[in-house]
Amino acid sequence: MQTVASPVNVLVVGVGGQGVIMVSKVLATLCQRQGFQVKQSEVHGMAKRGGSVFSHVRFGATVYSPTIPLGEADVLVALEWAEGLRWLPYLKPETGIFIADTQQIVPPFACRNRRHGAGSGYARATVADVIAQVANCYAVNAGQIAQQLGNSKAGNTLLLGMMSTTLDFPAGDWREVIAQFAPPKTVDINMQAFERGRHWVETHDPADYDSNRNSDLPLPIEAVAHEAEFELPVINRAWCKRCDICVKFCPERCLSLDQEQIAVLHAPDKCTLCRICERLCPDFAIELKYKH
Ligand code: SF4
Ligand code: SF4
Repeated sequence: MQTVASPVNVLVVGVGGQGVIMVSKVLATLCQRQGFQVKQSEVHGMAKRGGSVFSHVRFGATVYSPTIPLGEADVLVALEWAEGLRWLPYLKPETGIFIADTQQIVPPFACRNRRHGAGSGYARATVADVIAQVANCYAVNAGQIAQQLGNSKAGNTLLLGMMSTTLDFPAGDWREVIAQFAPPKTVDINMQAFERGRHWVETHDPADYDSNRNSDLPLPIEAVAHEAEFELPVINRAWCKRCDICVKFCPERCLSLDQEQIAVLHAPDKCTLCRICERLCPDFAIELKYKH
């Protein structure tokens, strides 16, 4: 058993449906296997899809409190960019490590201005802004890389791979615990994603953030510029339940119901690829795929 004098604090944040709790459980299970006392707490009851979700994981020889005080997180893992920004004050100022998926999930509340072409209220901070604020920043479009591997949901495992380089646990133990939690048919892809995450950190050069040498590397984020990343929304007619939610909430008014009351994209030229329709559809009938 390793010994850690004071608890190590890891904060995992994201939005509902992304897998924050799964990432947190993998870490907590792994810490227990190393013989540590572990305390895990989470808030997800009101999250639904798209709402804020976070989980605190603390481990060490002895851990008394399940929650991480402000400014005391050793590692902050963000599955969504704005959620990561929201929790930055919890990182240790001198040594904290920020690991983030740069994917942006724009909440409906950020699009209250329904005028055509109106900007969203989504966070404006770029990767470069965050690098200036924190001791260590690893930001990557994990979902996009995972989709290239064959399953965008393995993006969380890619982040676990990045996290594995920051905690002193054997890589083999990480792989065993991830395999335990991953659906059986996705274990191979999750193992690949884990290795990609480790490799990304090990070969990471901060200067890469300012270059476009490698498509895997994140560039500074524009607040609402998704055009380079996503294809137009695709609506699965068989799954659409005609609820009209996407039509009502599309800020650009480019969706409508057809004669059968099924949602259709009638004005693709106006679509800003904001993904609001995808996030709000209760039946998962809309998808925006990453461009390859
Ligand atoms: S992604 Fe969806 S909600 Fe956003 S502009 Fe396009 S159709 Fe409308
Ligand atoms: S939100 Fe989903 S189910 Fe409702 S109309 Fe749009 S596509 Fe159909």
